[in-house]
Amino acid sequence: MTSLFEYAPAPESRSIVTIAPSYGLFIDGEFVDGTGESFPTINPATEEVLTEVSAGSEADVDRAVRAARRAFEKTWGPMRPADRGKYLFRIARLLQERAREFAVLESLDNGKPIRESRDVDVPLAAAHFFYYAGWADKLEHVGLGTQPRPLGVAGQVIPWNFPLMMLAWKVAPALAAGNTVVLKPAETTPLTALLFAEICRQADLPAGVVNIVTGAGDTGRAVVEHADVDKVAFTGSTDVGRSIARAVAGTRKKLTLELGGKAANIVFDDAPIDQAVEGIVQGIFFNQGHVCCAGSRLLVQESIHDEVVASLQRRIGTLRVGDPLDKNTDIGAINSREQLERIRELSDIGEAEGAQRWQPAGELPERGFWFPPTVFTDVSSAHRIARDEVFGPVLSVLTFRTPDEAVAKANNSTYGLSAGIWSEKGSRILKIASHLRAGVVWANTFNKFDPTSPFGGYKQSGYGREGGRHGLAAYLTGADSK
Ligand code: NAD
Ligand code: MN
Repeated sequence: MTSLFEYAPAPESRSIVTIAPSYGLFIDGEFVDGTGESFPTINPATEEVLTEVSAGSEADVDRAVRAARRAFEKTWGPMRPADRGKYLFRIARLLQERAREFAVLESLDNGKPIRESRDVDVPLAAAHFFYYAGWADKLEHVGLGTQPRPLGVAGQVIPWNFPLMMLAWKVAPALAAGNTVVLKPAETTPLTALLFAEICRQADLPAGVVNIVTGAGDTGRAVVEHADVDKVAFTGSTDVGRSIARAVAGTRKKLTLELGGKAANIVFDDAPIDQAVEGIVQGIFFNQGHVCCAGSRLLVQESIHDEVVASLQRRIGTLRVGDPLDKNTDIGAINSREQLERIRELSDIGEAEGAQRWQPAGELPERGFWFPPTVFTDVSSAHRIARDEVFGPVLSVLTFRTPDEAVAKANNSTYGLSAGIWSEKGSRILKIASHLRAGVVWANTFNKFDPTSPFGGYKQSGYGREGGRHGLAAYLTGADSK
């Protein structure tokens, strides 16, 4: 887009990654051929086919669950907890050692800027393994009594927005608690999960402890519905989450759902405006807005609305949209053609319902999937763009006059995953935060993640928590409960 500064291209080299012409499934410690069809995964910035991966069939999923069960009974389950911790530390260190490879591969397959995959996704994935490695021999302090036990085999299905990071959020606590896993990555972003399989081999992780079965929704359903799975963990859309809740109801399976969001980012008139504008930008344009906790609803106090919007537009004018592998890129490619269509459709509805669309001037690359950073003003709480999760770089601006009105508008959502508050007054922040029905509330910052901190939602954003001690409880059962 137009920029105050012109930069020469600064592309990260992709030569560090080696992508095979095709991939099988990772089952029982080996890469094996799947029995299903294969399908391509592409680079969304260029539409180039990167490689072919396998669509795991029911039979493949069954094979993976059997391997996970054997490992749970024979090796991983009986292992001394401290030894499990050693494997997790080893995995964490290998993720760090091969961080650049993971970052480049993630940006190629997903379309996110290398700056983010390099500085956020991969370091946080490693941090999750380090954190949970430390817990492996301290499970009696989780808060589930002196002898908590693992659940068994965990079936885990993850989305495409943070492929490696979501894998880490799922796999690290499951393994630390003594479970084994069958993980299905999203169909548009399977490659870092397959590279992670290589890390498991490099770490000498016993066969069957981690199994990776690629594929689309049918493969995910086979994982979730497999009769020998003890725990289901899902992150993705609310619709699919609902169908999984139905499928699991009445079984013994434990369930964690991390679904969508429509976070309010609330800016009071006493907030430091420049800092808040940075937080608004970070809240909605980080990862192209493909973030379940994105600050997609800006609630700004009426008296500062014009000033904030003007400042925001000026700042957005400096954002660079383009090649994800360029180190100066702020906004990369939309992950898929389907997602681009959805963003376009909801934005068109926003305009049709009477909101004002603003986008900075500038050209987008010709090939690939792109959407410019977009701000809607004159948005009312009834508008679809204020209610539905767009999951793209689209901000809806609403106003409020009093703190009570801010709280009421923020909570006026079927979702309740996250929120942000910008104010100079600590007492106001604490008071507002206590009234927000959101799992995570950030104060004078946004989109900050840490493995020690629990993350999860209220209402249709799902249930259960990931991260911290709470994240372990989702993979354990207390001595007294069955
Ligand atoms: P999705 O829910 O369809 O896909 C998420 C994962 O679930 C993928 O691995 C997919 O293969 C799998 N899956 C699909 N159907 C399944 C089924 N019936 N049983 C088991 N697994 C199944 O999400 P999507 O289609 O990629 O995105 C659609 C919308 O969902 C987005 O526009 C966004 O609003 C939302 N979304 C939210 C998150 C999040 O982190 N909360 C992530 C991705 C998408
Ligand atoms: Mn891809």
